[in-house]
Amino acid sequence: TNRTFTMIKPDAVEKGHIGGILSMITEAGFRIVSLKLTQLTVADAQEFYAVHAERPFYGELVSFMSRGPIVAAILEKDNAVEDFRKLIGATNPANAEEGTIRKKYATSMGENAVHGSDSDENAAIEGAFHFAGREQF
Ligand code: ATP
Repeated sequence: TNRTFTMIKPDAVEKGHIGGILSMITEAGFRIVSLKLTQLTVADAQEFYAVHAERPFYGELVSFMSRGPIVAAILEKDNAVEDFRKLIGATNPANAEEGTIRKKYATSMGENAVHGSDSDENAAIEGAFHFAGREQF
């Protein structure tokens, strides 16, 4: 499909980067389909990241992602999933290219400012986790 799902993570919201990150997203040609400021409970974060449950960083990831508000959004563009992964840059900001969101706003491997879905299937699942059909414009 032509949609992806993103979160502006608690580190970036805390530092006041919502506007800067949304500007980079819209300037890159993505249309905002759905948008909200919300907060994940510990249970929400555990469910959202269940695929990483066996990884050593899972506990850290769950407490980080639930520690404060996030911005959740569904985005639309041709080739959305792949193009958005390019726009956010490498998971580790030390490896993120110039011009990427993580290069500009991420601080570490864990606190890396943004999430982007890794497949069309996960984009649909993650979008539905946060937004009802009537909230998708
Ligand atoms: P995202 O799913 O958030 O877009 P990603 O696909 O680039 O990120 P994944 O490998 O799916 O990265 O890991 C999911 C998230 O888990 C990362 O964005 C990061 O916040 C956290 N994470 C991954 N590896 C580590 C690590 N070694 N130490 C701490 N946190 C990590």
